[in-house]
Amino acid sequence: MMQAYDIAVIGAGVMGTNVAYQAAREHPDKRIALIDRDKIGAGCSGYAGAIISPISLTAAHQQQTALSRDWYEDPALGCQHLLRQLDTLIVYSDASQETLNQKTDLLTPVQCEVPGWLSPPSHLQLSQSRATLWGNVFEICQHLAYANDSVDVYECLAVRDFKRSNDGWQLSMSDGRTLHAGQVVVAKGAWLSAEEQSCDLIINRKKVVAYEIDAPVDETSPLVYLYDQGAFLLPLLHKQRWIMSITSQQWGCMPERNECEISQEDRQIAETILQQHAPSLIGALRGGRCHSDGYVRERRPQVVASQPGQLVIGGGSGSGFRFAPAVGRQACELLFSNPTV
Ligand SMILES: Cc1cc2nc3c(=O)[nH]c(=O)nc-3n(C[C@H](O)[C@H](O)[C@H](O)COP(=O)(O)OP(=O)(O)OC[C@H]3O[C@@H](n4cnc5c(N)ncnc54)[C@H](O)[C@@H]3O)c2cc1C
Repeated sequence: MMQAYDIAVIGAGVMGTNVAYQAAREHPDKRIALIDRDKIGAGCSGYAGAIISPISLTAAHQQQTALSRDWYEDPALGCQHLLRQLDTLIVYSDASQETLNQKTDLLTPVQCEVPGWLSPPSHLQLSQSRATLWGNVFEICQHLAYANDSVDVYECLAVRDFKRSNDGWQLSMSDGRTLHAGQVVVAKGAWLSAEEQSCDLIINRKKVVAYEIDAPVDETSPLVYLYDQGAFLLPLLHKQRWIMSITSQQWGCMPERNECEISQEDRQIAETILQQHAPSLIGALRGGRCHSDGYVRERRPQVVASQPGQLVIGGGSGSGFRFAPAVGRQACELLFSNPTV
């Protein structure tokens, strides 16, 4: 017998799991299918650093960031054990001071521990209060996926194709089954195909890279944000390592392993930054994390009602963890305000 759902979410990264979770909470009577061709959160989300940055490009970024933080930190969500507040040390040059002041959220000067490996920078800006929020994105995705009984999770099953039917959509699964859904949400990250994109949502794939650094970490270690270099060093207590996120310049790479690897060019970027700010760490560079993400002009994910009964979400733009709760809310508004969006 064909399984019938009100909503099918294709792709269970941080975007898809957020949509499925919020939709199930808002309408527990709706039956929802959450489908991933891999394990939940095993796409770009499983590789993320990942922080909610204290720096916002625009007012819209700032507003959505605040919404997301409140959402993740709400005790009712049950994710507190997967989050950590970090003091934040922002390092920047004189030339950047003005732009940084316009883009930085919630800066409250405090004294925080300056790591011994950090070379004296020209300026130090310290922030605390609600500074940076770190989250274990993979575990958060798993939690969101399985938190509601009305969500049926399908792992390691790809949706090969989905087509309009009389009253919704027919989804052809890789194991030969067919699912039926009234509405479909496509949240395939960097796997979003050219046909699934539209003039309102065009993604450019870009590699996102973070190196792991073998240097001591303790409870007082702050996040070190190197503003001018678009890089940050994040202390990971449970791994006793730092993660150094850099801005890779490689566009166009598919998320498949052989197309998305840390390259010599990435290493040069990392070493140049460390040479300037923390030369003693160059020898402590280990492996890292690397995945392709969809980028959009707005530099925050977009939710597009591309045809009746279909929403497409894309454009994590290296900040998908930060914006996913706001995306989930936007998607639910569209799904439930007009069930034939
Ligand atoms: C090293 C690194 C550091 C990062 N740091 C940060 C950070 O500090 N802060 C931040 O906010 N963000 C960060 N990001 C970016 C963030 O991880 C991404 O923006 C986010 O994970 C994108 O989520 P997504 O759900 O769109 O994509 P994904 O997590 O890739 O999910 C898409 C899912 O779709 C599934 N799928 C694809 N095709 C099909 C199909 N046909 N059928 C079924 N399922 C399918 C895939 O298996 C995958 O699980 C970082 C990323 C990396 C790699």
